[in-house]
Amino acid sequence: MPGTRRRAVLKSTLAAGGALTIGGAPAAGTTPAVADGDRTDDVVVIGAGLAGLAAARRLADAGHAVRVVEARERAGGRVWTVPTRHGSTVDGGAQFVGPTQTRMYALAAEFGVPVLPTHRQGDSIFWYGGDPIRYAVDSPLPPGLGGAAVDRAIAEIDALARDFPVGEPWRHPLAAELDAISYARWIARRTSDAAARLVLGRVSGSAVVSAPPGEFSALYMMNYYAAAGDADHPGTYERLMATRGGAQESFLGGPGAAGIPLGMAAALGARIVYGAPVRHVSRHGRLLHIHSDRGTYRARRVIVALSPAISSRIGFSPALPHSRRQLAAGFRMGSIGKFVAVYDRPWWREQGLSGQLVGDGRPIDCVYESYHGDRYVLLGFVRPEDMRRLDRVSERQFVAECRQSFVSYFGARAARMADYGFVRWGKEEWSRGGPVAVSAPGILSRHGRALREPVGGVHWAGTETSDHWPGYMEGAVRSGERAAAEVLEEITR
Ligand SMILES: Cc1cc2nc3c(=O)[nH]c(=O)nc-3n(C[C@H](O)[C@H](O)[C@H](O)COP(=O)(O)OP(=O)(O)OC[C@H]3O[C@@H](n4cnc5c(N)ncnc54)[C@H](O)[C@@H]3O)c2cc1C
Repeated sequence: MPGTRRRAVLKSTLAAGGALTIGGAPAAGTTPAVADGDRTDDVVVIGAGLAGLAAARRLADAGHAVRVVEARERAGGRVWTVPTRHGSTVDGGAQFVGPTQTRMYALAAEFGVPVLPTHRQGDSIFWYGGDPIRYAVDSPLPPGLGGAAVDRAIAEIDALARDFPVGEPWRHPLAAELDAISYARWIARRTSDAAARLVLGRVSGSAVVSAPPGEFSALYMMNYYAAAGDADHPGTYERLMATRGGAQESFLGGPGAAGIPLGMAAALGARIVYGAPVRHVSRHGRLLHIHSDRGTYRARRVIVALSPAISSRIGFSPALPHSRRQLAAGFRMGSIGKFVAVYDRPWWREQGLSGQLVGDGRPIDCVYESYHGDRYVLLGFVRPEDMRRLDRVSERQFVAECRQSFVSYFGARAARMADYGFVRWGKEEWSRGGPVAVSAPGILSRHGRALREPVGGVHWAGTETSDHWPGYMEGAVRSGERAAAEVLEEITR
């Protein structure tokens, strides 16, 4: 379908149901009520996040019968435009894109979602030891903070990344060594300086994947840095961390990031079954039966387009190989909460601030800014250790703590929000956290191959399986396209 027609489909979906305002499913009536009698699909894709949608449209474009079975009543997964307190919408999940994320730029153009530059004027703030350090917004860190230890560690990361087997970290000559320790230990072996540990561990580790650096392996993190690029541009520390020239350089405006998955879903139409959590996949001769809460579907191939941490909730018969089960058990979702404070004026800009901040307070410890028409927003990310506690408190308490964080960093003006919205991702039954699943030490080096290795007609997608940009929207799309290509090769052989 040409881009203009896709945009028209998206627009009519919005006009019909205002789906974008709630991140909802296509209009009622397009979802089949139950599994269709004797129908057998070429491929069933489990999950209508960006990975599953990208896989499905490749297969549909190639003329194959494809069905997407989605647990939620909406498409998009970790990309979700949510309602605010006062009836507007904000991006509760992903929204930033940056250089080398070519699939996302192409999809944004196709579905008419504007890519807007992140505001890059004024100073960012890094709170350290109770004091604010101001530094130029284009620098990923305050120059000199953490001293030579930080410079040496970043140089080591970039050198590793230059010839890293991206997406196959288990092939690295140091794989066993790097995977035997946590990222926190890797840092501790390089420096005992408190500032350097903070910069490398919390800012460049836990704020990126939303998990404490003691809980994931150094090999996992080195692959993450190395994957921040493409085939022609090896990943670098700066491309992962920076606003200018990095993953936070731009954001998806207009309808928000969800405009892309909702546009893809609208084009797939009735091929998507919503509200159908898949519980079990069983093999019967040459066919696979996909057992969901809305019935059983049959297919020649299955693509599981989920985080490995979530895929382990689906049962398989015959059982998956030991290595795949160990791999899935070793992955755990990060703990993330996103609190979006909306203001009618960018008062921080008037104070010479960019709106970007690294904090030493709680629960929010990382802030970005963005804008939408005449609304200006500060995006607060809750530190993972606090998020685990805040998943269990009332919404009222969560909002109060987040608001107080903003006040402690920016002053009393921050309390006067025009509106706000938030998502506690750990409370989302079909995500159980975000932005990505991290792998514990000892998993990738031993069982990493099982991440993508097809098993008896079952293929694996999801951002965590991507070579470049795992953990990002770009990685999700790449993974879906890769899984579709694998399946196409098998079924047209
Ligand atoms: C707060 C937050 C901020 C982020 N910020 C950014 C950002 O700025 N830029 C960026 O690029 N990325 C960001 N990300 C990451 C990005 O959202 C993800 O990498 C990407 O959306 C993952 O897509 P996916 O298709 O692989 O998985 P998902 O989006 O998780 O899709 C999986 C789908 O499977 C469904 N599902 C789960 N279990 C079942 C089942 N049993 N049966 C059927 N369906 C099932 C789920 O409902 C979901 O729809 C962020 C994520 C979060 C949470």
